[in-house]
Amino acid sequence: MSVVAIDQVHKRYGALEVLKGVSLSVDTGQVVAIIGRSGSGKSTMLRCINGLEAFQSGSITVAGHDVQQEPTKLRELRKDVGIVFQSYNLFPHLTVSQNITLSPRITQGVKAADAEVIARRVLSQVGLLEKFDAYPDMLSGGQQQRVAIARSLAMRPKVMLFDEVTSALDPELTGEVLLVMEQLAKEGMTMLLVTHEMSFARSVADLTVFMHQGKIWEAGPSKELFERPTTAELQAFLASGV
Ligand code: ADP
Ligand code: MG
Repeated sequence: MSVVAIDQVHKRYGALEVLKGVSLSVDTGQVVAIIGRSGSGKSTMLRCINGLEAFQSGSITVAGHDVQQEPTKLRELRKDVGIVFQSYNLFPHLTVSQNITLSPRITQGVKAADAEVIARRVLSQVGLLEKFDAYPDMLSGGQQQRVAIARSLAMRPKVMLFDEVTSALDPELTGEVLLVMEQLAKEGMTMLLVTHEMSFARSVADLTVFMHQGKIWEAGPSKELFERPTTAELQAFLASGV
């Protein structure tokens, strides 16, 4: 059953058409990698999925929410759809556990003791339970990004969106973050991830989508797509060693 259904979405910034009729269906538990050059519309697509950007035509349904039709219900939508960015933006004056419990406590009215249980659960998921009381500046970039993922998981999302979450990290720190994402995928989380990590996309994602000039140019099962790219544009992109 599809948990994300994107149908003929067109998105413009002024005169610039950034998404030119994008359609994509993602089933529960599927992992979809989105690849493509800078400026091809990858981030815009993710931002449309959780209502951070409006679009001019088409429709997006996520976990039963019609993104465009329910602007007043964005909070409910965002509870079901977690998004993690390249910049992790943890609050520096709050501990790891406080960063994680803030949103459940404020937006869902979760009691302090229950929020703590949630924090322990999600920190275990990302392998950082021992950092419960640490402050963000005591952690490496990779650890901070894992806390940001944990913070998102605390809302019990049905879908997780990741936008180049390892791009700001030193190469030696990307592996630990990719491992957390791989683990999440194995646990059955539905995920859409924009990434430059081609070997990760190939080995972890069920489907890979190549975006080019605001369109889904080519898409398919990851191994097939990487082994036998059919369009000249994807062939050139893969050959460029991005
Ligand atoms: P990608 O993530 O693939 O690099 P983006 O979705 O960020 O691509 O951007 C797609 C296009 O939309 C680019 O040409 C970018 O400059 C433009 N764009 C993105 N955000 C805005 C914005 N807020 N205002 C105007 N143009 C934007
Ligand atoms: Mg982007």
